[in-house]
Amino acid sequence: MADDFNLASAVWRHSRVTPHATAIAYKNQTLSYEQYACRARDLAMQLVRSPAWQERSVKPLKVGILASRGIDACVAMLGACWAGAAYVPIGLKLPQDRILAILAACELTAIIVDAEGAKLLTDAVLAACPPILIRADQVPSEDHGHVDSSNHINSPLLGKLAAPVQVAAEDLAYVIFTSGTTGVPKGVMISAGSAQNYVTTIVKTLDLHATDRALETCELSFDFSVHNMFATWQAGAALHILPTTLVMNAVKFARNAQLTVWNSVPSLAGMLQQIKALQPGCLPDLRITVFGGEALPQTAARQWQDAAPNARIFNLYGPTEATVFCLAQVFSCDTAITAGRDFVAIGTPLGGCQAMVVDTEGTELPDGMTGELAIGGVQLAQGYLGKPQLTSQKFPVLNGKRWYLTGDFAVRDLSGVFHCLGRIDNQIKVSGYRIELEEIDAALRQVSGRDLVGTVAWPIADGTPKGIVGFVAGSPIDPAELTIALKQKLPPYMVPNRVIALEIIPLNSSGKVDRRALAELLKIEST
Ligand code: AMP
Repeated sequence: MADDFNLASAVWRHSRVTPHATAIAYKNQTLSYEQYACRARDLAMQLVRSPAWQERSVKPLKVGILASRGIDACVAMLGACWAGAAYVPIGLKLPQDRILAILAACELTAIIVDAEGAKLLTDAVLAACPPILIRADQVPSEDHGHVDSSNHINSPLLGKLAAPVQVAAEDLAYVIFTSGTTGVPKGVMISAGSAQNYVTTIVKTLDLHATDRALETCELSFDFSVHNMFATWQAGAALHILPTTLVMNAVKFARNAQLTVWNSVPSLAGMLQQIKALQPGCLPDLRITVFGGEALPQTAARQWQDAAPNARIFNLYGPTEATVFCLAQVFSCDTAITAGRDFVAIGTPLGGCQAMVVDTEGTELPDGMTGELAIGGVQLAQGYLGKPQLTSQKFPVLNGKRWYLTGDFAVRDLSGVFHCLGRIDNQIKVSGYRIELEEIDAALRQVSGRDLVGTVAWPIADGTPKGIVGFVAGSPIDPAELTIALKQKLPPYMVPNRVIALEIIPLNSSGKVDRRALAELLKIEST
């Protein structure tokens, strides 16, 4: 239906037309579209039948998902969508404080957990949980009997399958939390219309087919997963979820499953190259590769092209605030490379998206001039959950139109291709994770009890941060103790690899901790 923006509708449609096609494969389990739709439908039924659900008058209804990537997480997420609610993934690696902060910010109506998520339900978390708590793997089935494979469209299972609840373009589809400079994560609210625009556009751009077998490398809490899941299911293709234990063996995994679509951050390709898992021609079945979420080094793209000679490589750029990806660049031997950075250009806007480079006043700059990249169009987020001030600051109206200021330095070259030139602020990406250094500073300040602290991205290889080093002012401090305390506050990927105590922390001319000088100290130390 043209006016139905429910993200679950594609799975429902395919479950009726190609019920036995594989929707998800994980470890030695697979779910066909029919089985997947039934499980999501059953879960949705359980949600909507619950009195607490019916009593909720505050819209939009939000359902938290506390589950590791796998079939149960997909069922949980799709079940929430099916019921017409927005889903809110909560990272399993998050420390309790952060889970509590997300629960407090969200006013969830329900939470769905898998076996791994259930382990995180401590007394404190349970006390903060919404009234409905469901185990995704323990939802009773609505059906008895087996699928009649002779009649696909009217199979007994699907005969009883209620369609997903109709959802309008402006309804909330999901909330994804990202690192926040004030020390608290912020929830990016994406509407169903934005999500649908992205999914339909990207399926066309990549030319995904129902016969494709696509890789999932992300947790639900990373918005790249929205691309992996919904683009694959929109096409009626199969999503093959890479178990976390097999990340080092991702090439073998892709070969064994004869994957045709690779989706990952470039860091994974870099890591595979480093461990010599990428040999020329080793991925002959791949016809599409999507790299996104962080800068794509030209060398990594070249090496990948050798390993996957039949794949078209796409470099996709975008912040969570503009629904996964909003600019795209196909890599080839004559692709624009960002001068001085050796990264593949971020390309041109996807359908429905606009991009421009602006000065500090928000005025569009001519081609060739460097400024901040602003994104406009249908994929812009509704804003940050419960943060109207921050929303209006980051999503200003310029020339009568709403834009999102990305915080990325950028330039548009004379052929209209955009190039990303790094950050204006202190946001970094480590292995694809978006991190505001100020958020680590805040945690470091708390646990060390020292006011003057600073964190820097270190080391840097191929222009990409590989880790984080923290500094605290004053006398030496027990780094092991500090790390344990930081792990209570921050997800593991934000915990500094080292914390160094300095008698004097360098300050810049505006009296702030001088991160450049700190990085310089590390550079000197390493030479
Ligand atoms: P996230 O919200 O986690 O997707 O992070 C968005 C940020 O990641 C952007 O503002 C950029 O700084 C960076 N980023 C994402 N994709 C790319 C890309 N293809 N090239 C360069 N930087 C990227």
